[in-house]
Amino acid sequence: MFKNLSHLKTYEAGKPIELVVREFGIKPSEIIKLASNENPYGPSPKVIEAVRKEAKNMHRYPDDSFFELKDGLSREFDVESKNIIIGAGSDQVLEFVVHAVKPNKVLMAGITFAMYEIYSNQVGAKIIKTSSKEHNLDEFREIYKKEKPEIIFLCVPNNPLGECLDSKDVFEFLDEIKEDTLVVVDGAYQEFASFKDKNKTINPKDILKYKNVLYTGTFSKAYGLGGMRVGYGIANEWIIKNLHKLRPPFNITTLSLKAAIEALKDKEWVKRGIENNFKEMQKYIDFAKKYNLNYIESYTNFIVLYIRESTKIANELLKRGIIVRDMASYGFDALRITIGKPQENDKVLKVLEELI
Ligand SMILES: *Cc1c(COP(=O)(O)O)cnc(C)c1O
Repeated sequence: MFKNLSHLKTYEAGKPIELVVREFGIKPSEIIKLASNENPYGPSPKVIEAVRKEAKNMHRYPDDSFFELKDGLSREFDVESKNIIIGAGSDQVLEFVVHAVKPNKVLMAGITFAMYEIYSNQVGAKIIKTSSKEHNLDEFREIYKKEKPEIIFLCVPNNPLGECLDSKDVFEFLDEIKEDTLVVVDGAYQEFASFKDKNKTINPKDILKYKNVLYTGTFSKAYGLGGMRVGYGIANEWIIKNLHKLRPPFNITTLSLKAAIEALKDKEWVKRGIENNFKEMQKYIDFAKKYNLNYIESYTNFIVLYIRESTKIANELLKRGIIVRDMASYGFDALRITIGKPQENDKVLKVLEELI
């Protein structure tokens, strides 16, 4: 039994607050968690109020057609409901796609979102990564022609590095890919990228014309609903119909559904969160410049700072209740720090100043 799983590893999420509380005896309220790219401000208060009211319905299954949520998304992106699939996080949509295609080979950037590899391993696919860490489309092209992978993952912007392809280059690339290769354009941070630079904006509507492209988005980042687990895929009707064959019924909860519907309505809240994100990110950039640290220009809600002995520094931060992501496991010394609230960032930078 389970022999077909023996080559798989269990995914380890960023350290939860509870672990730091137990290990270092720090009060939960004093812990600064900047390791999972969550939205530090949370969702709009209107969302919380709506979920509170909805709680009395938790004995009811959600509307499995997700009519209202798809309606909101179709208005948001000017697509039709039949072009949308809802997932328990966009992670689940990625899972659907990999299991639907059951690829022999997949292609992705040298360093990119870990779940692409994890789901692909589940179906025994060969994982091909570009030698460039960041997205280098010329290298993608070269490998595509040689290897003919059935799935190509583009993370635009890229987690965990933060860089972002220009949308013009993405569409040029999509034009060159034949229909027997599915391209996934992961837009988990598109709201941030699009705010910072319009050249990065990818309208999901524009990918509908491709027979073989799926766009994924999430409520976990800009909308502040990571704990609710709601994401979506947008593509032509044929792709979406096929993905639906793998979707379990009621795959998001009654409360998650309510939260996502309401979150779409409070645009002002989301915009303010994104504005604060880049305002606060500037503190890290100023810090890097002051201390001559390299950093990756970021179009997301996190920033990668190159710091020597990053593992040691990450552990020292942890002892002080600050959780960030050490990049040493990717083969280079750096920290990925999610942009927090103003006081959190000030504290992190003060401690970092002492440590480096
Ligand atoms: C966070 C993230 C997702 C999906 O998160 P969900 O919470 O599952 O919606 C997808 N792709 C990337 C690159 C991410 O960083």
